Amino acid sequence: MKRIAVLTSGGDSQGMNAAIRAVVEQGHHLGIEVYGVYYGFKGLVEGDFKKLTVADCQDNIKRGGTFLYSARYPEFKEVENQKKALEQMKKHQIEALVAIGGDGSFMGALQLANFGFPVIGIPCTIDNDIPGTEYTIGFDSAMNIAMEEIDKISDTAASHNRSFVIEVMGRHAGDLAIWAGVATGADSIAIPEVKMDMKDIVRRVHAGRQAGKDHSIIVLAEGVMSADQFVEEFLTYAPDEDIRGVTLAHVQRGGNPTARDRVFATLMGARAVDLLVQGEHGIYMGVIGERLETFDIIDTLRNKKHNVRRELYELNQDLTDKTLA
Ligand code: ATP
Repeated sequence: MKRIAVLTSGGDSQGMNAAIRAVVEQGHHLGIEVYGVYYGFKGLVEGDFKKLTVADCQDNIKRGGTFLYSARYPEFKEVENQKKALEQMKKHQIEALVAIGGDGSFMGALQLANFGFPVIGIPCTIDNDIPGTEYTIGFDSAMNIAMEEIDKISDTAASHNRSFVIEVMGRHAGDLAIWAGVATGADSIAIPEVKMDMKDIVRRVHAGRQAGKDHSIIVLAEGVMSADQFVEEFLTYAPDEDIRGVTLAHVQRGGNPTARDRVFATLMGARAVDLLVQGEHGIYMGVIGERLETFDIIDTLRNKKHNVRRELYELNQDLTDKTLA
């Protein structure tokens, strides 16, 4: 194998740069040229490629975002565009592709795999919502940011005896809300995987106050509803409560990646190149019990579902339910 390409696609996450850097460095180490594709699948179709050097990647390991840029490009669902991408790679003598992104990006990679083109995926999304793997790169950084922001909000909440609902990202998955909620001892967590009961949340807030708590924190996954909608609905049940809504939004996707995200991005980027050299493809990388694993792209995306750590959610709900005490 002489030449491969790497792209980042979909929502950006911390650790994408670290993964690109590992692919380039490992390629260099094994005598393989690595081409960067700019703007995800759009760049693949348009031939927006540049040969990457080790110097291009210097210090990228510590930076958030992606220096190859990312794009939402739904046009890649069209077979005509997939064929154009294959033609571009043939023209540039690219023999394999490393696709860095979320499950949508893996669907794009899957289309190329269906044509027999060698692809390997690296899971980078703050949502942690990819089937098979227990962990996706960017999740740890985003979770820590959410935790730090919620800590700050709880300081001001306490000073005014307020309740706050804090909306975190995660799209259709509740992972960020669960982990950030447990890490901050939230009075309640609302996730899309469990039907929300507003009466119960109000009861928990009131019970906490009766038990002597001076403020309340509710962590809300964006897949349930917005913080504004939540406040409106909450007030119909508890009109006298001083409750504010905060949406953390894109702050969760920026900043330097944590050590965990950097280390796993590095492991996955290097392993992806090794596997391509060994002739393995049509797979994506993942983590099970702190060890790297690979998953068949077609089989896993079709037949497996992502599951949240529901026991963590339930533990938090039990620990913070003061009426049981
Ligand atoms: P995140 O969930 O973190 O935002 P993602 O990779 O899931 O990341 P998407 O917007 O779902 O983000 O997908 C990224 C890109 O992957 C799309 O813009 C499109 O170019 C490509 N893609 C998604 N689904 C398909 C599909 N079914 N067929 C071909 N390409 C697809």
